[in-house]
Parts: sequence; C-alpha cells; structure tokens
Amino acid sequence: MPAYARPARVEEALKVLARGGCTVLAGGTDFYPARVGRTLDGNILDITAIRALRGIAERRGHWRIGAATTWSEVIEAKLPPLFDGLKLAAREVGGVQIQNTGSVAGNLCNASPAADGVPALLALDASVELGSTKGVRQLPLHEFILGPRRTALRPGELVTAVLVPKPDTAAASHFLKLGARKYLVISIVMASAVIEHRSGKVVNARVAVGACSPVAQRLPALEAQLKGKRFDATLSDWVNPAQLAVLEPIADVRASAEYRKQAALELVRRLLREMA
Ligand SMILES: Cc1cc2nc3c(=O)[nH]c(=O)nc-3n(C[C@H](O)[C@H](O)[C@H](O)COP(=O)(O)OP(=O)(O)OC[C@H]3O[C@@H](n4cnc5c(N)ncnc54)[C@H](O)[C@@H]3O)c2cc1C
Repeated sequence: MPAYARPARVEEALKVLARGGCTVLAGGTDFYPARVGRTLDGNILDITAIRALRGIAERRGHWRIGAATTWSEVIEAKLPPLFDGLKLAAREVGGVQIQNTGSVAGNLCNASPAADGVPALLALDASVELGSTKGVRQLPLHEFILGPRRTALRPGELVTAVLVPKPDTAAASHFLKLGARKYLVISIVMASAVIEHRSGKVVNARVAVGACSPVAQRLPALEAQLKGKRFDATLSDWVNPAQLAVLEPIADVRASAEYRKQAALELVRRLLREMA
C-alpha cells in the first residue's frame, strides 16, 4: 500500500525522501495529468504544508523564491521591475486555478520544453537550491534541466528554492508568449529578457527562448551584441537570425520547425522593442 506523507518541515521531508521510493507532489498540476487513469503506485511526499518552501524573500545578494511558491503568489508579490518578465510568465501558466496551485519548482522539475517559467528564470540567471539529508547544493538553472523530463535532481533531493541574483544596476525585464490562441495554451514559442542598464546604456543583457529546443536556451551571441548599446527601441535592430542558430525547433501538432524559427526571431525583436 503506497504511503502518503505531508510533513510541515523541510527536515522531515528530506528524511522521508532519503528512505527512497517516493515522488514529490507540489501543486499536482503536472503530476496528476501524467497519471490519468492509473492508480498511484509509489509513495507520495506532499510538500504543500511546508511553510518554509513558500514565498519570496529579499536577501543580501539575491532573491529567494521558495520552491512551492505558486504562480499566483509570484504575481501578487511586491517585486522590482527585474521580475516583470517572471510575473508575465506566471500569468501565462494555465488559468487562474492552475496558477493558484502550480508551483515554480514544479514547473522546473517537470522539465517540459514548453514550461513558461524556464526562459524567464534563465533570463534572471537563476540557480536552483537542492536539499537532501546529506546537505545543500546549488546549480545554475541551465545545468539543472538536462532535457525533456530530465533534471539533475539526485535521489533523495528536493528543490528547496530558486535563487535570483541581484544585479548591480537598474534592470528591466519582459516576457512574451506565442500560442495558437491568446490564453490557456501551450507555447509555440516564448521569449524573455532581462536588461541591466545604466545612464541609458545596456550593461548586461540576458535573452532566453523556450519551446524551440529540448531545453530553453539563452542567446549568447545576441546578448554580447546588445552590451553597451543604447537602451531604447533600436535594441531590436541588433537581432539577426544567426544569433538564434542555437535553437533547434521541432515540428509538432502546434507548429512547423520553420514557423517556430520565424516566430522566435519576431518574438525576440518585439520583446526588445517593447522593453525599451
Ligand atoms: C490545464 C493545465 C494548463 C497548464 N498550462 C501551462 C502553461 O500554460 N504553461 C506552463 O508552463 N505549464 C502549464 N501547465 C503545467 C503546470 O501547471 C506547471 O508546470 C506547474 O508549475 C507545475 O507545478 P506543480 O506544483 O503543480 O507541480 P507538480 O505537478 O506537483 O510536480 C511536477 C513535477 O515536479 C516534481 N516536483 C515538484 N516540486 C518539486 C520539488 N520542490 N522538488 C523536487 N521535485 C519536485 C514532481 O515530483 C513532479 O515530477 C498546465 C497544467 C495544466 C493541468
């Protein structure tokens, strides 16, 4: 008979995980749809009662987003413009009911190529904090998601938080999603950017595109090109197809690979134009 645990403390949760044979359950909005019509066969660790995994806190050098923080909590949190892109992404995760229960770490651990939170968090240069009874380690997000439905999570580990470094300058951010309709849709392409700026010039740029490769990708060639440029609508003029060559879009029921390529280029241009 599978066991169900719903501890109130992280330490208890890590002890349950250390015993093995256990699946983490947060909001369940990816967990349950993947098991429709099947009886649950393994032990469940429900992390929704752990208060320490909820909420967004400002620390000295970074922001800490608790792993079980819901998308609605991200939307409602008082945060600087650095997080505008993540908030826009949060509004695109399903409808309000899904946002009320779906969590930030759940979106990352499910590792879907179309996860809306991933490009926004890549643009934020986020890291993932992983806890186990053996200790805590941190991984940059791009090292955590290894492929579709594959992460670097080791047996016995729980994602405890997502960490976002504080930039040294003012920062703006944005997120755009293209789907086959306006709302409640799986992304064909989504893009997010963070621009750190000083005296009207770009100090650092991070741009990420999702749903166009097995894992959402940053665009390093474009980012390098944007450095030092005027932070205004002309930023979009620096975008060219070669900078998006790191993307490997596939054709599926939602779009052809060629359409995705074109759409990604247009979305990134719009993203930069709208940001300024
Ligand atoms: C109708 C519907 C619409 C949706 N629309 C979108 C959409 O538009 N965009 C989008 O990106 N997603 C969408 N989703 C997917 C889903 O809502 C999100 O990915 C959500 O963020 C998942 O979070 P969760 O807390 O529900 O995860 P869960 O379902 O609880 O867990 C997902 C996976 O992550 C693991 N996990 C969860 N938390 C942790 C943790 N702290 N440590 C280790 N492992 C963990 C679980 O074991 C499981 O494998 C949709 C889902 C539904 C049902």
